[in-house]
Amino acid sequence: MIEENDWGLNWMQTPWIVWGLVPFLAVNIGFWGTAIPLELILNKLMQDDSSFWNKWFHLIEYGNQKNRRQELAECRAQISLAHQAKVSLMQMCGPTAIIGAVTAGYLLPLWMPAVERTMPTLAQFTLQMIIMEIVGDFSLYWGHRVQHSSQYLWENFHSKHHQLGTPSALSAACIDGIDATLQASIPMLLAGLSARAHPVSFWGHCFFRVSQNVVHHCGMTSPLLSILFFKYLPGRADNNFHDYHHRYSNYQGQARNYGEYFTLWDELFGTASNLDKLKMK
Ligand SMILES: [Zn+2]
Ligand SMILES: [Zn+2]
Repeated sequence: MIEENDWGLNWMQTPWIVWGLVPFLAVNIGFWGTAIPLELILNKLMQDDSSFWNKWFHLIEYGNQKNRRQELAECRAQISLAHQAKVSLMQMCGPTAIIGAVTAGYLLPLWMPAVERTMPTLAQFTLQMIIMEIVGDFSLYWGHRVQHSSQYLWENFHSKHHQLGTPSALSAACIDGIDATLQASIPMLLAGLSARAHPVSFWGHCFFRVSQNVVHHCGMTSPLLSILFFKYLPGRADNNFHDYHHRYSNYQGQARNYGEYFTLWDELFGTASNLDKLKMK
């Protein structure tokens, strides 16, 4: 039943705010609110072996490779962190993000149920978040895989993101706009539509999804991150799953680890790397 004279509810029944503007803000808060602290922590780890942060965060390294500090320095000599931040700002606030927000603002209200309560119940919120996480990653898997399969998509779009062989948090949005549309905007829209989510759940998904995307590029593993992002649950992909993709799947053709949030799709479709190898560090 619609609650009359409820300021919060009136506000939530304005489609372009609920499905366009607030998701845009949630995505930006998720990105910058995660990327900036993780870059600062990584910077500490780069400088000092004995800092407080070394107890809680560990650089991802692969047995026979040079150490990550050196590789990160080499990667940033080619694509500086300042440039990565500039491209990220363009992707998070520029044309791709605005087109995504406007599309969501028009498209989602056509299918979403009317908002009758300012907040979902805890059970609704949890169920909708789980559905969106699963549908979003399934869609990301194919949005990513198709760009390795197609020479055109690889050469014109996805190869730009793969220039970052040793990524860090800000690298997550250092990506072409078409790539971001295929791997982020469309998956988020499909996730919201599939769950027929309450706006609050959808905002939560936008924030949580982008925040995780940053974590998957941060180049570190950490028990704190694993707890915060539910990485200990079965089937969840840890940060090294996507890091491995950057390191060993930097080519057009059949690659490994297309998914980011779950290992399920790669296991199901035969594209997972040997997961034991990922436990190197
Ligand atoms: Zn890729
Ligand atoms: Zn990536």
